[in-house]
Amino acid sequence: AAAFAGKRVSLFGLGGSGIATARALIEGGADVLAWDDNPDSVAKAGAVGIATGDLRGADWAKFSAFVLSPGVPLTHPKPHWSVELARGSGVEIIGDIELFCRERTLLSPAAPFIAITGTNGKSTTTALTAHILKSAGRDTQMGGNIGRAVMTLDPPEPARHYVVECSSYQIDLAPSINPTAGILLNLTPDHLDRHGTMQRYAAIKERLVAGSEVAIVGIDDSWCAQIADRLERAGRHVIRISKRLPLTDGYFASGTDLMEAVHGRFSRVAFLEGVGSLRGQHNAQNALAAVAACLKVGLELGEIQSGLESFPGLAHRMEQVGRKGHVLFINDSKATNADAAAPALSSFNRIYWIAGGLAKEGGIEPLRGFFPRVAKAYLIGEAAPAFSATLGEAVPYEISGTLAAAVEHAARDAAGDDGGEAVVLLSPACASFDQFKNFEVRGEAFRQAANAVDGVKPIGG
Ligand code: ADP
Repeated sequence: AAAFAGKRVSLFGLGGSGIATARALIEGGADVLAWDDNPDSVAKAGAVGIATGDLRGADWAKFSAFVLSPGVPLTHPKPHWSVELARGSGVEIIGDIELFCRERTLLSPAAPFIAITGTNGKSTTTALTAHILKSAGRDTQMGGNIGRAVMTLDPPEPARHYVVECSSYQIDLAPSINPTAGILLNLTPDHLDRHGTMQRYAAIKERLVAGSEVAIVGIDDSWCAQIADRLERAGRHVIRISKRLPLTDGYFASGTDLMEAVHGRFSRVAFLEGVGSLRGQHNAQNALAAVAACLKVGLELGEIQSGLESFPGLAHRMEQVGRKGHVLFINDSKATNADAAAPALSSFNRIYWIAGGLAKEGGIEPLRGFFPRVAKAYLIGEAAPAFSATLGEAVPYEISGTLAAAVEHAARDAAGDDGGEAVVLLSPACASFDQFKNFEVRGEAFRQAANAVDGVKPIGG
């Protein structure tokens, strides 16, 4: 990163992205002093040639910038000691996305840069946008909060496209973020432990679209709707998207059709009919955002449609893993709480629902509205007794205990269902740690169990 050539930079946080960032700075001619509270991370950085030293003993007057990992608290519950040192000596605090933005501005400001944030759907929208661009033959680099750290991506060139997922923590550390197209999908209370209030959380997310050439904003929640109005009043170019309302200007979903509205005149720009990896209203929001961004960078409608149709989806998020006749097997292991399970439960009917694990506060009570879609529930893990109490008389259930037993029983029952498409759905509304290492391992176990059922044809994987 040439932005700090010949300058001294301090850096805290030596995880994967911290190490990549330190190396990029060093390659660009910066003099870096790095540290971490974890001695193992410090040793790892030292082993790859990064100068390390306790920043508490450093001369902060000499640093031009302080580069911080997004995982380290700036404010809540209280600032990390390194943040207090930087603030005390007036050194600016930035993250790797800021470095990337400065690098792009310096080397190739014309390189198309799509930045994506929101409470939910960031990864799906990022992966989808990158997939559409790639399948249209564009030179595409994807990273940030998904996949590769931004400083490990290939350097900016005019025709190189960047699709970057940004968490609120990363935006907080990127004061001059300036994407070609910025996407803000939605805002619901989340991560307030770290940001303090919803106002502050929303203000951070707003910064990403406020700095964008074009601000693509999902207006289905009141926080984002207000942000869109405010940006427009400030003279910014705003493109509104809605997964449920016809708009006079912007993009909206009408069933599985994705529509463009220009002064009240509608035309269909794409459709999701038959696109298995993008089922559900929430995915219409993600797809609308991707379509708007791809149009902004000059893709043709035909290229966009074929990209949508070939999108494989992300693993463990409503991922289709197998089919046997009318029975579809869906892995939604990423749904580790009730809110995250809601989209899957609202996207299907005749659901043979595998749920349970380590329950979160509130259990599955918030999902009661979807119970009529559930043909039977198969409960696993520690949460099974509590979940069975919530299901009560409303939904037939069994306590299956293990995931393997749940899949076997659900597959058998769904095969006997003659009401059209039936779905064996793992959307556990629970953390996995009582029975699995993490949600990925749980999702893989589901895939294997589903594909071990006699007659199941695997999809993807
Ligand atoms: P993120 O990267 O923001 O965590 P993902 O794309 O990984 O989001 O999706 C995680 C889960 O959030 C999905 O399994 C789905 O249940 C839900 N989800 C995805 N997109 C949306 C959306 N646009 N609105 C609401 N929920 C969504």
